[in-house]
Amino acid sequence: MTATAPEPFGGLDYPRTLREFNSFFPDERACFDYLARLRWPDGFLCAACGGTRAWRMSKGRNLRCAVCRADVSVTAETIFADTRLPLQAWFAAAWYAASQKPGVSALGLQRVLGLGSYETAWALLLKLRRAMVRPGRELLQGELRSTRATWALGGAANRVAARSGSRSSRSPARRFRAGRSGGSASAASPT
Ligand SMILES: [Zn+2]
Repeated sequence: MTATAPEPFGGLDYPRTLREFNSFFPDERACFDYLARLRWPDGFLCAACGGTRAWRMSKGRNLRCAVCRADVSVTAETIFADTRLPLQAWFAAAWYAASQKPGVSALGLQRVLGLGSYETAWALLLKLRRAMVRPGRELLQGELRSTRATWALGGAANRVAARSGSRSSRSPARRFRAGRSGGSASAASPT
């Protein structure tokens, strides 16, 4: 599977410039792979059967276990779950929000990313802010030293990054519950 490609790695690699961001995340596939590496730092591990091989489904954000055929969403339990907005837009928003001092407004986010509505930008920013506070607090108890790790990439992903501390320590995949997302985009959410 491609999700074990070496770079960039969540919590370790951080795009310092817009050019670097674009080279890290040129498309949805790159964002998908990034989340997969964040979730399974030591490679895919099926929570249902322990299988270590999976392939990416052509649609959606799922990996399918090659052994038991269970589908696992790379965005399950993250702020990207059940969202219609492309991962690339989420990543760009997170990067932009984290890069701006003292902060970014919903209007600014809408303009920079070319989002269709202010409500979408506002809801997106709200989710990002919540996610960016939580991992920072947990990092105080964790082992990560770099503040770059607070770059918000979702609840479960951040918990994984904060607690595992390194690529080779306890595998977060063993705590991951396999889920079937089935592309259940929420019609109620503007994002
Ligand atoms: Zn399996």
